[in-house]
Amino acid sequence: MVANLIKGKEIALALREKFGQEIMSLGHKPHLAVILVGNDEASLIYDRNKQKAAIEAGMDCDLHHLPEETTEAEVLALIDNLNEDKNIHGVMVQLPLPKHIDSRKIIEHIKPEKDVDGFTPQNAGLLSVKDERAIVSATPAGILYLLKTVHKSLAGMHAVIIGRSNIVGKPLAALLLNNDCTVTVVHTKTRNLPEITKQADILIAACGKAKMVKADWVKEGATVIDVGINRINGKLCGDVDFDEVVNKAAYITPVPGGVGPMTIAMLLENTYQAYRQSKA
Ligand code: NAD
Repeated sequence: MVANLIKGKEIALALREKFGQEIMSLGHKPHLAVILVGNDEASLIYDRNKQKAAIEAGMDCDLHHLPEETTEAEVLALIDNLNEDKNIHGVMVQLPLPKHIDSRKIIEHIKPEKDVDGFTPQNAGLLSVKDERAIVSATPAGILYLLKTVHKSLAGMHAVIIGRSNIVGKPLAALLLNNDCTVTVVHTKTRNLPEITKQADILIAACGKAKMVKADWVKEGATVIDVGINRINGKLCGDVDFDEVVNKAAYITPVPGGVGPMTIAMLLENTYQAYRQSKA
């Protein structure tokens, strides 16, 4: 068996074009503010890509790029201003923040209705009780969208998620439960990991370990979603050993060009949702 590729890049582009058309017909522009502290090169490239994608979709997007030595109080003050500004619909803070800044404190300062990353406890809670007002964090939302392009219904499917982070593993578990999957979350302390991953109809790797998932960890015909972004000798790769697993799975996302582009598309969708909710 050679797996079919789930082409996140093309799917994300189509989604962004769709928002673009809807936004053009609004007559107003949803407005996203992105805060980046410090000089992490990957974060800067990532945030510039977000800004470019937002503008292409007809939104306004400001990148507040602050120096490394910015204090926690200064970031909180900027968030206060953005929270109060009626013309701003979405606020996101690029992680990781420099070590002298408490990330949780910063995230929790964003008004939940402008929290387009879906990282505040309020949005995580709304998601876990399946409340449609939840702004769902972009990477899990993108993964669900990709799964729905290849499976009409996810009901009863066994999804195994490798990773329990607050930004990927946990919200994804809630989202897949809300979509009637049977969900297992595995992590660094899990025993007999491959025995569990082999049971997955849907296997999602979000552990940040290059090419960790091998063919003999995967059930024949599974759908494999690779969230990882790693580099080996400068070359991008995921958490799945693609060359092995492509011969075992029925569907697989590539890295690059799989989950990554969907994260940006769903961030724009979340900004558009925040805009619509602000007008409701
Ligand atoms: P994280 O480091 O916060 O969490 C990793 C999780 O994986 C932890 O819960 C840990 O328990 C688990 N884990 C680590 N090593 C493991 C092992 N050997 N066996 C079992 N479990 C293990 O990472 P994160 O922020 O959730 O990101 C995960 C990966 O996804 C990273 O490569 C990150 O760059 C990538 N990522 C990609 C996107 C995207 O848009 N494509 C978005 C977010 C994160």
